Amino acid sequence: MADTDVLVVGGGPVGLAAAIEARRHGLDVVVVEPRPGTVDKACGEGLMPGAMALLREWDVDPAGHPITGISYRSPAGHVDHRFRGTAGRGVRRTTLHDALRERAADLGAVTVARRVEDVRTVPGGVVAGGVSARYLLACDGLHSTVRRRLGLEAPATARPGRRRYGLRRHYRLAPWTDLVEVHWSPVAEAYVTPVAPDLVGVALLGPRGADLTAALAALPELAERLDGATAGPVRGAGPLRQRSTRRTAGPVRLVGDASGYVDALTGEGLRVGFAQARAAVATLDDPAGYERAWWAATRDYRVLTSGLVAWASSPLRGALVPTARRLPGVFGAVVERLAR
Ligand SMILES: Cc1cc2nc3c(=O)[nH]c(=O)nc-3n(C[C@H](O)[C@H](O)[C@H](O)COP(=O)(O)OP(=O)(O)OC[C@H]3O[C@@H](n4cnc5c(N)ncnc54)[C@H](O)[C@@H]3O)c2cc1C
Repeated sequence: MADTDVLVVGGGPVGLAAAIEARRHGLDVVVVEPRPGTVDKACGEGLMPGAMALLREWDVDPAGHPITGISYRSPAGHVDHRFRGTAGRGVRRTTLHDALRERAADLGAVTVARRVEDVRTVPGGVVAGGVSARYLLACDGLHSTVRRRLGLEAPATARPGRRRYGLRRHYRLAPWTDLVEVHWSPVAEAYVTPVAPDLVGVALLGPRGADLTAALAALPELAERLDGATAGPVRGAGPLRQRSTRRTAGPVRLVGDASGYVDALTGEGLRVGFAQARAAVATLDDPAGYERAWWAATRDYRVLTSGLVAWASSPLRGALVPTARRLPGVFGAVVERLAR
């Protein structure tokens, strides 16, 4: 007899969302997460309207700052689109983690402080990190141990020089906007999210070695906004692009960043990861059903984000914001698609 119905490997936001969803289905859940307490991570911290809708379903309501749309900006000008439906929210990762952790614990999910190093399937289930379970949801992030151990990792396609990384830093000042601003420098994008009444996050996305000081020197509008504000520590992540060959192996499902990731440019990892968590729990006995649901939940994100990153990495990068300005209807349609 297994220790639990569902073993969630990784207690980040997607793992905790999966734990909440599994408890709501009446399943016993153990979450294995090596980092004690509140977990922080390099993230743009923008929760799109679709992510907020799922959090509401789970009765999770983290404090933050409303986000009412997206603005693409370059020294030559800007284009804004305000969401037609409900707002998103900028939320500090630590605030989000606490809110999800508390809800999962209230619902009876058990957390074990441990790092999973090995995974093996056994008759009737799976054993990982010393816990046996009927099903395993691998939510262990970009560099997933479970994905690697089960041979589900697809080789990187981008040449090392073309791989993209992310950095994030917080600035203590009152937000000047309720839009997520994406400032385009010649080599990197500074993704600015209001996250609290006195805090603004800046995530820098670009090639290895891109640094915030150089990016701000090329972005005078943003540099002026941040001038004089106390800056927090820098945290990094990457390479961002990660791929899996498939999302299921026997009783194991890859969920969230562990299942693959395109890029942070469209600020969607959480929305897509939450949708996967819900689909994974709904299809525990139907691996093909999860595979189909995974493709459906990630389709727009994969297509639009890959296309945008390809354009941003091409010699036509400089034309991106001017084109979006000339075609505000197309820009708005893309933002609406990603916000769902
Ligand atoms: C720079 C940057 C900006 C971003 N901006 C946004 C944004 O604005 N909006 C948005 O929605 N998304 C954004 N994202 C994406 C978002 O951060 C991720 O999609 C999200 O964190 C995925 O959650 P997760 O739970 O799958 O993985 P993670 O948050 O990485 O959590 C994985 C967890 O697994 C644990 N773990 C790892 N290995 C093991 C192991 N072997 N055993 C047990 N546990 C393990 C880790 O400790 C961690 O707690 C951004 C990402 C980056 C890098």
